[in-house]
Amino acid sequence: MWAGMPFGSQRHGRWPGQCELCRGWSAGLVCPACIQAHARTRARCQRCGLGSGQPLAQCGQCLQDPPPCWRTVCALDYTFPWDRLIGHFKFQHRIDLAAPLAALLAAALPADLAPAGSAGPLLVVPVPLSDGRLAARGFNQAWELARRIARTRGLPADPQALVRVLDTEAQAGLTRAQRQRNLRNAFAPAAGGALAGRDVALVDDVMTTGSTAREATAALLRGGARSVQLWVLARTPESP
Ligand SMILES: [Zn+2]
Ligand SMILES: [Zn+2]
Repeated sequence: MWAGMPFGSQRHGRWPGQCELCRGWSAGLVCPACIQAHARTRARCQRCGLGSGQPLAQCGQCLQDPPPCWRTVCALDYTFPWDRLIGHFKFQHRIDLAAPLAALLAAALPADLAPAGSAGPLLVVPVPLSDGRLAARGFNQAWELARRIARTRGLPADPQALVRVLDTEAQAGLTRAQRQRNLRNAFAPAAGGALAGRDVALVDDVMTTGSTAREATAALLRGGARSVQLWVLARTPESP
């Protein structure tokens, strides 16, 4: 499962057969001991993915202000060492990390993926990047995760079902209110009705305040999606 090719990674100081985290021998990019040590499952709010003392159907925040998604599956806390690995994946062109990171998210998914009353197969959709960001990075990290998980679970995936009409990715340093204002109308459903009546799984690498996911979900629902659930690789433990 972890046997990703360490293609091109030597220049970053890792040799084939070394664990990305502890440098011990490993058949995959991250050794089973490091996964065991750092990827412990924790209780979360099932609706928004926020960590909690015990598993909750909905946390206080969700009861007060329900998000438009019906479920959030979150594999990891966005803390060491995963923040570092996800940073390498996105900013150092470490596409070889896509497979082991996708496997961590896939392992967090429940056996039963579809909501009650679902008619067709779930449609897996990544949070899109703006054209400028995509051109600069060369790949959309959310799509690299989404397409691998879709293949593992035998589901259709569509990287074009949702489009980013405004470049709002530079959200660092903004307050929650500013982020939300900035994000309104940042996403739009693709023309052509691909979302009509579909139960959608929206995939992203990192969730911070949840405002990006909320706006992307709202756009999917505007496009006719019947339901939206989120699959997020890592979530910051508390909202800033
Ligand atoms: Zn290790
Ligand atoms: Zn919640």
